[in-house]
Amino acid sequence: MKLTPRVFSGMQPTGSLHLGNYLGAMLQWIELQKTHECIYCVVDLHAITVWQEPDELRRAIRQVTAAYIASGLDPKKSILFNQSQVAAHAELAWVFNCVARLGWLNRMTQFKEKAGKDRENASVGLYAYPNLMAADILGYRATHVPVGEDQKQHLELARDIAQKFNNDFRKEIIAAGFEDGIFFPQPDPVITGPATRVMSLRDGTRKMSKSDPSDLSRINLTDDADTIAKKVQKAKTDPEPLPSEVEGLASRPEAENLVGIYAALARRTKTDVLKEFGGAQFSGFKKSLAEIAAERLGPIATETKRLLDDPTHIDAILADGSARARALAEPVMNKVKDIVGLIRS
Ligand code: ATP
Ligand code: MG
Repeated sequence: MKLTPRVFSGMQPTGSLHLGNYLGAMLQWIELQKTHECIYCVVDLHAITVWQEPDELRRAIRQVTAAYIASGLDPKKSILFNQSQVAAHAELAWVFNCVARLGWLNRMTQFKEKAGKDRENASVGLYAYPNLMAADILGYRATHVPVGEDQKQHLELARDIAQKFNNDFRKEIIAAGFEDGIFFPQPDPVITGPATRVMSLRDGTRKMSKSDPSDLSRINLTDDADTIAKKVQKAKTDPEPLPSEVEGLASRPEAENLVGIYAALARRTKTDVLKEFGGAQFSGFKKSLAEIAAERLGPIATETKRLLDDPTHIDAILADGSARARALAEPVMNKVKDIVGLIRS
């Protein structure tokens, strides 16, 4: 099994995709399709680490798939599928549960944030989430992982797991024909979207998230122009006018976030945006921001809706992608079993 450059990434069907997913990850996914073999997953097993209503989960899996395609992912060129249809993810995650150390997982900030104060009541799955994520990536021996800034720590953990596996089983890996002792690559994070950390519209210190209970905190890829205008208009700001230079955004998280979003959507730099809006009140700026957001996201919303009218077609795309993903992940999993010393028939 030669190591080929390969991209893997995923999003959780915990709700509909939002502007943060789009600017932080999706735009890079689309770009990488031009140069790489890409595998894009709807990570439904990650979604159930927190409670999901079964009917709602089914709907969300189809909706995220539709949003992938509507945003520009090509299901013929790239592999699009939902995680639970490829058993190797869960199988390899178990092996990694036995490779990763408790101390490593105890440092994960996403678990701390998501579990909140009631940690005793969080699912074991939420705690072990990063091990499953490592399995998602390494199960394809993927080399590049385009994500938003919040996933950097999990990627580092995936690298640690890859390295420990390679060290622990060095002898067996070499015996299996990997002369340099490298079975799993060190996957590289690709955190280069036009906005790698989009913040909540209600609180400039919190990340925009699907799972935020307030829908006003995010712009969904399915929102229509009126909804976007309402959300942007209600977005939290401070009383000062916009600064003329980027330095003036320091310690003004809400202003910095809105300017960052505008710049990313307009494909301009923040400096350039502030040259135009510096000294202006937020009201005028927000109007322009809502317009550009509706202009960029409108076609995606329309296409997502159209695709969702035919769930059978979406399910067929997921079935095809899953078969192609299985063909890549099963041989890797078989090798892992041989290396670890598990008997298979
Ligand atoms: P959840 O609240 O359920 O965790 P989420 O909004 O964080 O949902 P994920 O499915 O966890 O979305 O993440 C999908 C991808 O989008 C990841 O690559 C993640 O880094 C990226 N991402 C998520 N939120 C943001 C954000 N606010 N800004 C930039 N990138 C983001
Ligand atoms: Mg998340």
